[in-house]
Amino acid sequence: MLTIGLTGGIGSGKSQVASWLADWGASVIDADVLAHDLTAAGGGAMGAIEARFGRAAVSPDGALDRRWMREHVFADPSARADLEAILHPRIRATMEALGQQAQGPYVVAVVPLLVESGQWRGRVDRVCVVDCDPDTQVRRVMQRSGLTPEAIGRIMSAQASRADRLAVADDIILNDGATDLAALQQRTRHLHDGWCRLSDARVVHGHFNQT
Ligand code: ADP
Repeated sequence: MLTIGLTGGIGSGKSQVASWLADWGASVIDADVLAHDLTAAGGGAMGAIEARFGRAAVSPDGALDRRWMREHVFADPSARADLEAILHPRIRATMEALGQQAQGPYVVAVVPLLVESGQWRGRVDRVCVVDCDPDTQVRRVMQRSGLTPEAIGRIMSAQASRADRLAVADDIILNDGATDLAALQQRTRHLHDGWCRLSDARVVHGHFNQT
């Protein structure tokens, strides 16, 4: 099935875009949700996480101690790489399995780190970037989460730059500080209609399931 990789920095508007695409019939699979499931109590990554990071990484209830891990990986890039090496293959495997069962005109894989981790680009047919200026990202995330500008800045500096994302985009949804929700929805709808046409064309021309 046609697979769109949807990405963008924190606060760019990915979740908003993905929720409209789901309303319009696309199958949306969110890497953050899968990561959360894998690191819940009894989740499929918890054994490997405890083996690598020790009991300190695990809360008393058996789930990942998210605060401990956040501080640990920010202080130590190799710890971050190890955590990603545990989580990313498991997320990809689950996404592929879910994608094969998916219904609807196309699949949307919401992957915040799609540009950063090179494994994703070959697995999607198109990369769609929700594009936003950094000041607006900080403002939105502060409103949503109450994190400090410094904490948000640390998250953003660990993510790809705006230019890096745009360089790999097949489709771009501009959602900067001057974009209201109606304009965002209109742009998203335009792309959705195009992806539906693309999906139809692939079925008609016998390219179904080929990239
Ligand atoms: P992401 O998933 O990329 O982190 P979200 O979709 O959660 O970003 O958007 C961050 C916050 O900003 C949300 O509260 C969302 O409703 C809001 N938001 C996003 N785009 C706009 C916009 N164009 N106008 C107003 N609010 C917006």
